[in-house]
Amino acid sequence: MALSPPVRRLKSRPITFIFELPTEKLKQFWEGLEKGKVYASKCRKCGHITFPPTADCSHCLNQSMDWVDVQGEGEIETFTHIIIRPPSFQKHPTYTVAIARMNSGVKVLAWLTGAKLSDVKVGAKVKLAPVLSEDGPSYGFTIAP
Ligand SMILES: [Zn+2]
Repeated sequence: MALSPPVRRLKSRPITFIFELPTEKLKQFWEGLEKGKVYASKCRKCGHITFPPTADCSHCLNQSMDWVDVQGEGEIETFTHIIIRPPSFQKHPTYTVAIARMNSGVKVLAWLTGAKLSDVKVGAKVKLAPVLSEDGPSYGFTIAP
């Protein structure tokens, strides 16, 4: 049996990326989070709902969108517990990310906080709500009561 040759690796220097994202067309989404709302974008032409919201429809490329509130309850379709965190998330303890189908039909990917691991399962009911932290406004799930 032949032995595999050792894998040689080069280590790069740490790289920091800072993105400046144009937010004017999505301003209502960010303002909504600060006011306690979680909005998705809905195309005025084809009705496609997108979350996170987009300035233009990814389905038909229409540039005219409405806002629909997607917060409330949903059901977990899949999830993962993140134990080995990327460098930019080292300040956080281990965390859970879930994808849930909301009652409005749209799927949302978000962190699930405050849950016992044994309560996190496919089919569990979750509640989506805005989250305000030192990193800025965001959104997240908790297990629905
Ligand atoms: Zn569309």
